Amino acid sequence: MNNFDTIVIGGGLIGASVAYGLSRSGQRVAMFDEGDNAIRAARGNFGLIWVQGKGVNSPAYAAWTRKSAQQWPDFSKELTELTGIDLAFEQNGGFDFCLNNDEYTSRQALMEKMAADSSGEFSFEMLNNHELKKILPEVGPSVTGASFSKLDGHINPLLLLKALHKAFKQLGGMVLSEAVVDLNYADKTFKVNTNSQTHESGKVVLAAGFSNKTLAPKVGLSVPVYPQRGEILVTEKIKPFLRHPTGLVRQTHEGGLMLGDSHEDVGFDEGTNMNEIQQIAKRAIAIFPCLENVKMIRAWGSLRVLTKDGLPIYDHSNSCPGAYAFSSHSGVTLSTVHALDIASCIARDDLLPSSLTCFSAKRFDV
Ligand SMILES: Cc1cc2nc3c(=O)[nH]c(=O)nc-3n(C[C@H](O)[C@H](O)[C@H](O)COP(=O)(O)OP(=O)(O)OC[C@H]3O[C@@H](n4cnc5c(N)ncnc54)[C@H](O)[C@@H]3O)c2cc1C
Repeated sequence: MNNFDTIVIGGGLIGASVAYGLSRSGQRVAMFDEGDNAIRAARGNFGLIWVQGKGVNSPAYAAWTRKSAQQWPDFSKELTELTGIDLAFEQNGGFDFCLNNDEYTSRQALMEKMAADSSGEFSFEMLNNHELKKILPEVGPSVTGASFSKLDGHINPLLLLKALHKAFKQLGGMVLSEAVVDLNYADKTFKVNTNSQTHESGKVVLAAGFSNKTLAPKVGLSVPVYPQRGEILVTEKIKPFLRHPTGLVRQTHEGGLMLGDSHEDVGFDEGTNMNEIQQIAKRAIAIFPCLENVKMIRAWGSLRVLTKDGLPIYDHSNSCPGAYAFSSHSGVTLSTVHALDIASCIARDDLLPSSLTCFSAKRFDV
């Protein structure tokens, strides 16, 4: 079979979420993925479902993020029931720490703005060190305080990716482990080429991370993205002490801690840097002094797929109707809206909803 309703290019978190959602809507779908050697943000992320601080200058993005977070409990249940994979999903609220008064004051202002822009949909709390210690007794004296949002949560992102692929295949989706090298559009049909074969479809979804940049112009779209490295440290497993995810430290359900995260402009270098590793570890120990003697067992660098303004790209093509392009650096958090809202829109052959128009890459044309 090489004729599909929709071909999804890219099997990372965005592609797999959309592909799963399309199969769920009864579409015949093929998902092409370059494979494990590709640069893949989905393999290196922190696993947060994170609302606080997202979209502070874009109420539309904040609302989109909130919607996704609200859909997470049912979505996680659905994926687990379908695949038998426990995603280690937890959503009991998250903290973002401030290590001095300036950080605390600007954090509070940022959260107040988010709440004010949300028409009552977003609420938060600011806690000082004393209040924080009642919930997280291990917090150190150099923490001034923290913001708390009850919508924040976390998940095992590798199990999420595995579950999305498994669920997609269970619903009849086809995964093709080959890179797409070319695509074109004629007579209402997309022709998608790998080095060995050509497949056809009525619609195509570009979700290929950085490759979107080269594939998009072939269907009248543009995806101006650039890499930004984030490094993450993983420690040995220790006794559970952290019952909430935080922006910099989270304890996985197996007991290991993940510490993050840096923001480095190093091109396509996925390596690690000892200075950054030290900074991440120092900050984590300042927050939780009990981590001082915990062994770090590995670290990795992974590349965020970023736009200049940090907001996602959701676009459809006017010259090649049926072509869509998506890019976001919150692929875990937004997995539910990609699988449920975006996919059902594509399945109905609709244009993207007007609430997403502001995320068209045309905003960079001015
Ligand atoms: C350090 C770090 C921490 C992060 N933490 C979080 C977090 O806590 N929460 C959160 O929500 N998000 C987080 N993210 C972001 C999240 O990982 C990404 O948003 C998400 O992985 C992006 O998914 P994607 O599908 O666009 O890209 P990718 O995951 O990069 O997937 C792209 C896929 O396309 C395939 N591909 C590429 N070219 C081709 C081609 N020509 N043909 C076929 N296939 C192709 C690749 O094989 C790859 O699988 C983090 C990212 C990083 C780097």
